[in-house]
Amino acid sequence: MLSRRVDHFVESVIRDMTRLSLKHGAINLAQGFPDFPAPEELKRAAASAILEDYNQYSITWGAKDLREEISRKAREYNHIEADPETEITVTCGSTEAMMASMLALINEGDDVVVFEPFYENYGPDSAVSGAVPRFVPLNDDNSIDEEALVSAFNKNTRALILNTPNNPCGKVFTANELKLITELCVDYDVIAVTDEIYEYILYDNKKHISIGSLDGMKDRTITISGFSKTYSVTGWRIGYALAGKNLTSAIRKVHDFLTVGAPAPLQHACVTAMGFPDSYYKELARMYDGKRKLLYKALIKAGFKCRMPEGAYYILADIPEGTGMDDMAFARYMVSKVGVAAVPGSSFYKSEAGRHKLRFTFSKKDETLMEAARRLEKLEI
Ligand code: GLN
Repeated sequence: MLSRRVDHFVESVIRDMTRLSLKHGAINLAQGFPDFPAPEELKRAAASAILEDYNQYSITWGAKDLREEISRKAREYNHIEADPETEITVTCGSTEAMMASMLALINEGDDVVVFEPFYENYGPDSAVSGAVPRFVPLNDDNSIDEEALVSAFNKNTRALILNTPNNPCGKVFTANELKLITELCVDYDVIAVTDEIYEYILYDNKKHISIGSLDGMKDRTITISGFSKTYSVTGWRIGYALAGKNLTSAIRKVHDFLTVGAPAPLQHACVTAMGFPDSYYKELARMYDGKRKLLYKALIKAGFKCRMPEGAYYILADIPEGTGMDDMAFARYMVSKVGVAAVPGSSFYKSEAGRHKLRFTFSKKDETLMEAARRLEKLEI
């Protein structure tokens, strides 16, 4: 009675953990959203936009002034030229941008290369669009396994999903790795769909490189980003996709009939966000660096094994040895007995590797993280 396509995925485990966290009064280090206020100036811009009556549909593919600002930012920060009239689509978050891109691109049975660990959404994105995901596990140090990547490509490969900085493992793909991916995409005539939502959250002088800026990639990349993480407004649901004219017109068609458009007053406020000075972005990364260190220390002290992320705001940690529990059981134990919610690792893996891991976010106030650290000290194994 239901469509076969919905048989292939379950509801978001990340959001399920948020519900469980609320039920148990736990500290929610599961879902990646800030528990601190959004910038005052942005909130005022949104409130004024409503009072000024930006309350009807904007242009389906995004308010003109916002697309112009996105085009400027793409040129200056991502080194990508995107014509605001024909190559930019404003969407309801990067989640919609990703799904609309997949629906615009994929025919039933097309192969899509996905690195593992991967962001939870890419499974359902593949299932709904009819893609067959080919998972390529990263090495233990998060570098690319070249042989595995090369052998994942074949004549059926239509797209590769890239997420840099990566959720959940915090990897920032290097220039050499992106060069290898570029060569494969060009050789096999493959489109890179790249989720760059954490592009400003980088540590230890890591640099963000957009694969769409590399030679040969301009017309074979869909670059996706948004406002949620950079401006701490995950509930606004404003994202965007940059792509060549043909791809964009297909993405726009899907987007139009899925959502008509993203919220008009909030698009207007996002123009204000794009006027923030460079110091805003520096401060954002500096703030998250402190939180990263705080959570890392607490997890190590509690017996988890983990790496310091290079970007984004998550730590993927190995469950301490000797618990006798898999990721699901341990996540349930943590939320109900320790009072800290995390996401079971299997949400980010096709293979068994995720069964021994939990993902924690540090996109929270320092005091929230410090309380989580106190609770983790009580972890008895
Ligand atoms: N991107 C956030 C995370 O990974 C929120 C995702 C979600 O709500 N599914 O936690």
